[in-house]
Amino acid sequence: MESADRAVNRHYSRPKPYQRLLRLLEYPGLDALTTRRLFRLQLAYRSKQAPVEILDRITRAEAQVQETYSTFRAQFDGHSATDNELEDLLRASRDSERVKAAWEARKQIGPVVADALRQLARLRNEAARAIGFADFWQAQLLLDELEPDRLLHTLNAVDTSTRKPFAAMKADLDRHLAQRFNLAQLDLRPWHYGDPFFQETPEVFAPPADPLYAERDVVGLAAETYRQLGFRNIDAILARSDLYPRKGKNQHAYAVDIDREGDVRTFLNVERNARWMSTLLHELGHTIYQDGIDRAELPYDLRDDPQGFLNEGFAMFCEQPTTNPAWLSEMVGLVPSEAARLAPQMAAQDTASLLAFVRWCLTIVHFERAFYADPDQDLNRLWWDLEERYQQIPRPERRDAPDWAAKVHVATAPVYYQKYLLGRLFSAQLTRKINADLGGWWEGRAKSGDFIKRELFMPGARYAWPELVERVTGQPLGVEALAAAVAWPRAV
Ligand SMILES: [Zn+2]
Repeated sequence: MESADRAVNRHYSRPKPYQRLLRLLEYPGLDALTTRRLFRLQLAYRSKQAPVEILDRITRAEAQVQETYSTFRAQFDGHSATDNELEDLLRASRDSERVKAAWEARKQIGPVVADALRQLARLRNEAARAIGFADFWQAQLLLDELEPDRLLHTLNAVDTSTRKPFAAMKADLDRHLAQRFNLAQLDLRPWHYGDPFFQETPEVFAPPADPLYAERDVVGLAAETYRQLGFRNIDAILARSDLYPRKGKNQHAYAVDIDREGDVRTFLNVERNARWMSTLLHELGHTIYQDGIDRAELPYDLRDDPQGFLNEGFAMFCEQPTTNPAWLSEMVGLVPSEAARLAPQMAAQDTASLLAFVRWCLTIVHFERAFYADPDQDLNRLWWDLEERYQQIPRPERRDAPDWAAKVHVATAPVYYQKYLLGRLFSAQLTRKINADLGGWWEGRAKSGDFIKRELFMPGARYAWPELVERVTGQPLGVEALAAAVAWPRAV
């Protein structure tokens, strides 16, 4: 990976092609497609114009940090524990002492990598400043066609419009958790929230969804869902993919476009449970997007989404059938009355998780902004200030540890998290549009699949993202649709 990265650095760091692209962009009378191609290429070159010696140092430091993360195992209960083991325990246990121990173990990686991450931030800043940006945070956004001021404005709007429903949801949640752990609500601490960062809401608002899928062929269900939506390549995509777990296989899930010539695949570890049902719908959503880009009309460099958050937002949108009563009865085989009873509870659980996730995004995006503005400040304290402010999670008494460094994205996917938040905004806006005009993604499937293919997939990266969002949803990207979707309490 390191040597491939170095080769990429060398290609894009050449100053002459970069200067030539800048001159070509000035050329009068260019057509829109050519301008778009030159603009995107120019950004790719600009991102690597810092001295290649700094870029190589960053690449080496990143590879080392990545290796530390992937090989680190926490010490817990006298043995080496994986993240999965600790996180399963956080979700399942009802014993305060046990969850506290698991939570603390999950944060053990922090002190191991904190110094290296501060050093990496200084290096990334140095490279950003060498090409005229204020710091790495600003550079990453601008090189990715996001305006920092506009993003801050969006963060504030999200904060304002989700604060009340989040507080109401969390009050309900705290009542459940106090009962679960047999504690006073005032005694709840970060380890009681079922997730090391309270990224999602523990399953308290709906019965467990796993039993629905225990006897189901979840791959078959996902394939039939996309066939009925009109995505006939789904079987070819699945045939090329790596679907099931085996010994020594990477535990994650992703989708990848191998060649932009139609070889799209997904990598999964499917099991028969609710999480993998959603993950399948999500990752296959990525694959139909990539597969649906117009390869006949578009040149290689535009066979892409215009901004990663559109692809991510669409994949999140694709998870919605799992809380749809019609899908639950037609596809999963629930009795319609049972589906009608369960679906609203599952939708409430989803809304609760969405609220938790959005507030967590605010914590991490604000943290990264401050981190790159000044990597030498008291980051341990800043982290808990933000968690208290946005997520209402009280800091543990006297804790002074680099808990920020325990989140893998801070290290290996820096300044990426805003894409998840913007993706949620897009997903909510797309849902509103399709519900209003086509009667719903699943209910309107004779038309909704076609609409998405034509409006979202076909154009690839032909338009800049603000234009594509407006073309597809009829409005510029905003927070109104998300705000309307997270009302709490839910009528259940
Ligand atoms: Zn995704």
